[in-house]
Amino acid sequence: MTAHNALYIDGEWRPAQGRETIDVVNPADETVIAAVPAGSAADVDAAVRAARAAFPAWAATPPARRAELLGALRDQLRSRTGEIAATVTAELGSPLTVSERVHAGVPVAVAGSYAELAATHAFEEKLGNSTVLLEPVGVVGAITPWNYPLHQVVAKVAPALAAGCTVVLKPAEDTPLVAQLFAECTAAAGLPAGVFNLVTGLGPVAGQALAEHPDVDLVSFTGSTAVGSRIGAIAGAAVKRVALELGGKSANVILPGADLAKAVNVGVANVFANSGQTCSAWTRMLVHADVYEEAVELATRAAAKYVPGDPTAEGTRLGPVVNAVQRDRVNGYIERGVQEGARPVAGGPGAPEGLEKGYYVRPTVFADVTPGMTIAQEEIFGPVLSILRYADQDEAVEIANGTVYGLAGAVWAANDESAVAFARRLHTGQVDINGGRFNPLAPFGGYKRSGVGRELGPHGLAEYLQTKSLQF
Ligand code: NAP
Ligand code: MG
Repeated sequence: MTAHNALYIDGEWRPAQGRETIDVVNPADETVIAAVPAGSAADVDAAVRAARAAFPAWAATPPARRAELLGALRDQLRSRTGEIAATVTAELGSPLTVSERVHAGVPVAVAGSYAELAATHAFEEKLGNSTVLLEPVGVVGAITPWNYPLHQVVAKVAPALAAGCTVVLKPAEDTPLVAQLFAECTAAAGLPAGVFNLVTGLGPVAGQALAEHPDVDLVSFTGSTAVGSRIGAIAGAAVKRVALELGGKSANVILPGADLAKAVNVGVANVFANSGQTCSAWTRMLVHADVYEEAVELATRAAAKYVPGDPTAEGTRLGPVVNAVQRDRVNGYIERGVQEGARPVAGGPGAPEGLEKGYYVRPTVFADVTPGMTIAQEEIFGPVLSILRYADQDEAVEIANGTVYGLAGAVWAANDESAVAFARRLHTGQVDINGGRFNPLAPFGGYKRSGVGRELGPHGLAEYLQTKSLQF
């Protein structure tokens, strides 16, 4: 893999001020494929200065022009689909087809949606004798994780740019190469120097320096709840805007009368996609006692279709997890599930047969999971599904709402009306009704400890705007 031994600051690739680098490892075979600079606080400062200097002119650029440039960025991303997919597969380990369709494809849709929103959004509104101006917040510090490494970058950078903000990005240390490709795309799209800046580096060093920087007006973070709560505290103390997209333990509620086979198959696919490394994954399946054993059997059969293997090989549906720490963490949770009395009906702890090299785990389904178990409460971030039993709808609501999280979820019922009635009772930011399709405009974000703020579509754009009212 080609990598820049440089940071992208003020429209150019610049060497970092220190010499430290981060090795990028292919999780499928544990080989080092590249190294990138580990940026320091001084590098972050240089990037924030560049973003600050670029802000006035970018904020004053007519939204229609910002829209054109976002359109050019979308076209750049689209034209480099193959390269982006290969890069994400190499540094994250997702199957190549998933990398093409999801990791490369979704960012094109999201960048396109913001090209359109920049052109059409009302950046001014009338309210009685007031005119309300919606103005960009300023310099944005974006900190992103590795699980959807390009999507999470575009879901922050595109709305920030559409709003008229400038950005400094600190991507995850595991997946910096696709972030470098993104920086190349911003340059090729013709974005003015300093509007987008990239500092690769370690979370506690570069990430922390970015969150703490006094000239960053808004911090947008996606990642773990543990780090997110610290970032929220830093931002709160400095009275700066903050958006947090954190963990989840979402419920897939299958109500009596639903198409059980469809609900279970889609549910298993949802959890195993991206090796279970999806914050919005429906990791708890809730099934009525009357059809519980049937659902367990269907899930066991569905899981058998996910054989872990080389993500570049044709037909592979499940790659490794991102790194050794994640592999050990996931295995720890699987062991814990067994200890606490859940019944593994697929998978289990340890490496899959024949895959001793690479960070592979066995796709695992647990039956007889009760709401108090660790595997029913904590985010595992691996291909592990817990199936819980409920007796009636009130109990299903109680179980579904019974974690600290509230990011996503699904409800399946005999018809949309009864599914919607149930969905209204859920404390969560998104619910898919009877297998509803992904919508890149739908607000995405959490209730409770799943986060603060929303991403995507017009709600995502609003995060990067502040209001000024003029009275007449
Ligand atoms: P993480 O530590 O929260 O990482 C997210 C981002 O924050 C990365 O860019 C990380 O940099 C950075 N970071 C880490 N410590 C920081 C600090 N003190 N100040 C500022 N930035 C900091 O998450 P992780 O370690 O990669 O994954 C751990 C767990 O988090 C997972 O098992 C999963 O449960 C959860 N997670 C959730 C999501 C989600 O989308 N909700 C995404 C990823 C992970 P580095 O890359 O250098 O650590
Ligand atoms: Mg980390």
